Parts: sequence; C-alpha cells; structure tokens
Amino acid sequence: MHATLPLLLDTDFPVIRRAALTTLQVNLGYRCNQSCLHCHVNAGPGRKEQMQRETVDEILRFLRHKRLQTLDLTGGAPELNAHFRYLVEQARALDVHVIDRCNLTILTEPGQDGLTDFLAQHQVEVVASLPCYLAENVDGQRGDGVYARSLQGLKALNACGYGQPGSRLVLNLVYNPTGPFLPPPQEQLAADYRRELGRQGIVFNNLHTLTNMPIARFGSTLISKNQFNTYMSLLKQAHLEANLAHVMCRTLVSVDWQGYVYDCDFNQMLGLPLPLPLSGTSRPHLRDLLDSDQEGSAITVAEHCYGCTAGQGSSCGGALSRGDEPMVQDADRQDSGRCC
Ligand code: SF4
Ligand code: SF4
Repeated sequence: MHATLPLLLDTDFPVIRRAALTTLQVNLGYRCNQSCLHCHVNAGPGRKEQMQRETVDEILRFLRHKRLQTLDLTGGAPELNAHFRYLVEQARALDVHVIDRCNLTILTEPGQDGLTDFLAQHQVEVVASLPCYLAENVDGQRGDGVYARSLQGLKALNACGYGQPGSRLVLNLVYNPTGPFLPPPQEQLAADYRRELGRQGIVFNNLHTLTNMPIARFGSTLISKNQFNTYMSLLKQAHLEANLAHVMCRTLVSVDWQGYVYDCDFNQMLGLPLPLPLSGTSRPHLRDLLDSDQEGSAITVAEHCYGCTAGQGSSCGGALSRGDEPMVQDADRQDSGRCC
C-alpha cells in the first residue's frame, strides 16, 4: 500500500484549537468482517489489533473522571471486540450517551446473537454506514452481498424500534461517495434514501454525508490511479472557512486500541499523536490527559484536514467529475466524522 502521510505534511491548513472536551471516540480494534475499498482504517478480517480489558477500564475511568457526555465506538467493527458489551453497559450506567458505528452486516454475523436487542435495551445510538441505496454501488464498494445483508440489518433495527416515529432509539445512516468526488447535498440525498428505502419498509432518523479521506486504503488507491493531486485540489477548492468551527477534533479525543490519543480518528490512522508538550512524551496516552485540560491547545493538522472542511461552493468539474455526481457537499455534516 502507498504511504500518504509524506504527501500531506506540508500544509497551509489554518490553525485550529480545541474547545471543551465532550466526546471520547474509541477505536476498539481494526478487525472487521468487511474489507471496504474506501476504508481509512485498512480494517478487515485478518487484523489482530483489539483493545484489552485493562484499556477498556481506563476508558471508563476517564469518562467518569472527566464527566464526558458521549462515548463514540468505532473500529473495524467495534462489536467484534470481546469487551464491547461490557463497555456499553458500564458507560450507560454512568449515564453516558453511547454511539455505535455499525456496518450493519455485523448484526447478522455468527456469534453476534442478540446484538440488535442489546443495542436497543441500552439505548445506544446506531450510526450505520450505507454508501448508497442502490445494490450495485454498495456491493461494489463494500463487497458482494453487503447490500442485502445491510437491509436485513436495518429491518432488524427497525423491528426493535430504531428510527421509528416517536421512538427514542436513534438510527442515523452515513453516506460516503463511491469514488473520488464530493457528496451531493445532504437534504436532497436524504430524501432519495427515504424514498428508496421506504419502498422496502425501512425508516431512519437522519442521513449524514461524509467525504472520503485521502489516506490509507482510499488514499493509496488515489496514488495508484494517479488521482491523488486532483482529489486534493478538489478538496482544497471546496474548503469553507465557516466549517472550521464545526470540525469534530475541537470537542473530541480519539483513542486507539492501546489507549494512545489523537486529535481525531484520521490522525490516529496517520500516526499523528495529539500534541501534549508538557507531558514529556511524544506519544501521549489517555492516562496522560486525566489531569490536564486541552481547551485552547492547537490541533495537529495536515492536508487531509481539507476533507473535513470541503463544503458547498465547489466548482471543480475536472478529471474527477463523473458527470452524474454533483461536486458539492453539505456544510452541516461535520458531526460524525467517520462511517464505521
Ligand atoms: S469501512 Fe467500516 S465496514 Fe468497511 S472495512 Fe472499514 S471499518 Fe469495516
Ligand atoms: S482531519 Fe482530524 S484534525 Fe483534521 S480537521 Fe478533520 S477532524 Fe480535525
């Protein structure tokens, strides 16, 4: 795989600083039952990295100590971690809002019996990746048969009350483009999803649109196809200054499977640690943050950060344009940050 970091470090991305911390986004490990083309984690069935119980308990200690509002669980497929249900139960007992970034097919994997009921019972918000409402696009990006199994997962969630009118069980979907272009406007796309999935009796709360990050598997593919620079130009030309106030790294700390901390999941995958100058370590751990306050400190940025601020107004229609895909992106989608 091609390394993208050397192409990203020389940057003119603006300085951004932390606000008050509200959320811990925890990567429970890189193992996944899928191997999607766009995955910025390089997750897959062969990955061995998994968070151990000792680190899970450090997560809980941190949530308690800092009185954080939200625990955002990701992976790989976070549900494959042996301590997933323990962590959810304990976090909910602390009255912490829990988000599960779910790839939907995990709900019907062997060994995951009762997972849908468990999520509902603990009122876990489900953020589910579904890059299109058309089978060929989903299967092309995520693997043969993934679309059918994803719909099966959505129906199971709906049957538990997720996404239903009046229900407190939140089911949000995530769209990401199937190639090197920006997402279409969120509202228009959400209406299309509602119409098409509605034909199959599926309901959901909100649709978030995400831009593919020029890192890891997707970034490497861009390099292989000689599209990296064109894609970066697309992101930079679509940069919206107003989006800087809403990037997730301002209120979130990302934790890897060993407990090391980063400004976001993308920086985690690039190996760019959260800067903690007074700690005496160049690779801070969650325990190094227990008694420190990061508000006001600078965030580590590089060229990939333009993937978070690319917004409406792009007029790029060059080599990357597919003609049938609008080259614009919704400006209000900065809340979720990654698909699963
Ligand atoms: S994008 Fe999500 S479902 Fe696909 S391989 Fe990566 S972690 Fe797994
Ligand atoms: S890539 Fe990470 S550090 Fe950069 S703007 Fe996005 S969330 Fe912040």
